Amino acid sequence: MILEFSFNYLSSSLIYEKIILNTLGVFFLESKIIKSADNLFLYVKSDDSDELESFANRLSLELPHSIFLHNTDVKVVDEMPQESSALPLISKLPMAFCPKCLREVMDELNENYYNIFHECEVCGYSVEGEKKSYKDDFVNLAKSISDGLVAEVNTFYGKYFVGQLGKKCNEVDFDIISYDLATIAHYTNATNSEMAALGAIEKPFVKLKTNIKFKMDFEDVADELIRFKLSDDFVLHLLLHELHKLGINLIFITKEKLPSDVKFDLEEYEKELEPIEVVIGDNHIAIVRGEKGLPYQDLANSNDLIPHIGAFFSVIKEHSLFDKTVAGVNISKEYHNNILVYSKKFGTISYLSLWFKFDSIKDVFDSIISSNESGKKLVENFKNKFPEHYEAISVITFNEEEFNVYKLWGIVSIVLGYSKETNLFKAAKILEDSASSFLGTKGPRIDYKLKRVDSKVYLDPLMTIRTAMSFKLAQVDQLTLSYGVIESFVEFVSSQLDDIKEEMKSDAVVVTGSLLQNRHLFSKLSKEVSVNHKLYFNKELPIDGKNILYGGNELF
Ligand SMILES: [Zn+2]
Repeated sequence: MILEFSFNYLSSSLIYEKIILNTLGVFFLESKIIKSADNLFLYVKSDDSDELESFANRLSLELPHSIFLHNTDVKVVDEMPQESSALPLISKLPMAFCPKCLREVMDELNENYYNIFHECEVCGYSVEGEKKSYKDDFVNLAKSISDGLVAEVNTFYGKYFVGQLGKKCNEVDFDIISYDLATIAHYTNATNSEMAALGAIEKPFVKLKTNIKFKMDFEDVADELIRFKLSDDFVLHLLLHELHKLGINLIFITKEKLPSDVKFDLEEYEKELEPIEVVIGDNHIAIVRGEKGLPYQDLANSNDLIPHIGAFFSVIKEHSLFDKTVAGVNISKEYHNNILVYSKKFGTISYLSLWFKFDSIKDVFDSIISSNESGKKLVENFKNKFPEHYEAISVITFNEEEFNVYKLWGIVSIVLGYSKETNLFKAAKILEDSASSFLGTKGPRIDYKLKRVDSKVYLDPLMTIRTAMSFKLAQVDQLTLSYGVIESFVEFVSSQLDDIKEEMKSDAVVVTGSLLQNRHLFSKLSKEVSVNHKLYFNKELPIDGKNILYGGNELF
């Protein structure tokens, strides 16, 4: 009998390939591994079906879940394939422990019990150290943290400050490490897909809304999302394991310097690496930031980039879409936003620009007034209803070279009075946070309309601001209205993509840019756009993927 295992696996790290080879090593089976684009196939043949069954069981035990794994299947086939593929030689990427090494380190009878340096050819951080049990060190460290002390800890990829959630972390930006998934499920509203990603071997950060009240003295943080992850090296894993015995299942972790009482440096890390953070929809997952465990970690940090073009082509390259007609949506928070269409036949054209410019809030109001009679009336009503607010914000001026959707949300946030900040980034963040606190499923419909200037098509920012003002006058509350602003934008993008498909027969959609970090936007986009289009994001690069990798520029 011949079994075919298939994995839709979007990673070049070779983790699965190596684990499969290791597992094959303990069986006597004829086998073949074939890698073709994003699919990995394993064929195993034996006359002994018990042997095949025990191999399959063993493999499922050894293979960790990965954020790059999208589908698996196993079936009986008639023949072994003719071709075969050689595995490329790439060096090991710094990576959390694999299931096998974890089992051994946690097994009292194993020689590697509590040995933080234990690793294999698949996992670990390639740091040398004395092979022994470090149990006492972790028992003591856990005791100190349980007593309320802050510890300065060397992990295998950087120095961090850790401690119990509470007053001590209030003044710094921090993330949370959880003992297990059940604890995260208890304190957050993580979806099933988010839980699966948190448990994957990459152990990424996921930004989640939590009901933990650890920052009660700051009024605005109730709306904030916090990054959670599980331990991604043995230092953190063994620490959390000991803390769990003392009844502590969550700790804060931060890079920011805190007065610390304990220093814990069993090892010197080779290289400081930023852990990855991902954002997850029902159908897609994208890397928001970080480099640890990614094959392009050196390049991904380079500043040499042309964001709105480079990112688009990095996705086309990663998914081999050069022969397709691809619509590209660039929604960076920092840079220019636009929709491009690429095809081999006509090259790359700009379909829609989200460019606009205002000098001040007064400029915004004046433009609305001069656009038509109803605009004039709207601003009058707004001014009469909120006279002090109107006066106060009218003096706000902008010093922006270029506007985009995120900054438009910043303007909306200021005009509606959600933000005391005059900085558009900060103002937009308040609108985002309000939207993420909304518990309903539908917001009001905010207009995103197009206008034509000469032969080019632009987004008309005034229509968005105008509809938002009307809903404010109609007393729609902040959370609902904020949600509507973001939701309507996704619907706008989605309908633009439908038009492009109709007109230009596009067969793929690529979305890039830091606005994808927004959990609601990402999951709604993933869901909505997938209905009519094949949707792609960067695979192994952060979502603002860099052009230097692929020289995407040459195509212009
Ligand atoms: Zn391992």
